[in-house]
Amino acid sequence: MRKALVPQGIESRFVGITEHGHLIIRSGTTLVALTPCCQAVATFHDYTLCCKRCWQEVSLEFADEPQVAIPRDQLTITLIAD
Ligand SMILES: [Zn+2]
Repeated sequence: MRKALVPQGIESRFVGITEHGHLIIRSGTTLVALTPCCQAVATFHDYTLCCKRCWQEVSLEFADEPQVAIPRDQLTITLIAD
């Protein structure tokens, strides 16, 4: 089974991972993929999509609602401290 490292603070909202292995969480009625650098959401800063925690530029794939490639129930989840 594929493994996923999930920060404790988002564990209750974690729904699965993308085909690239990025974590997906539920945010209200939509799904959001988290940045690989910080497991944070991405946001536009001027015209550049950035990680909201470290402000490093991230792929534009984080601007769209993600597709769940592997759902949570098919993953072995290891919780990590926030
Ligand atoms: Zn970051």
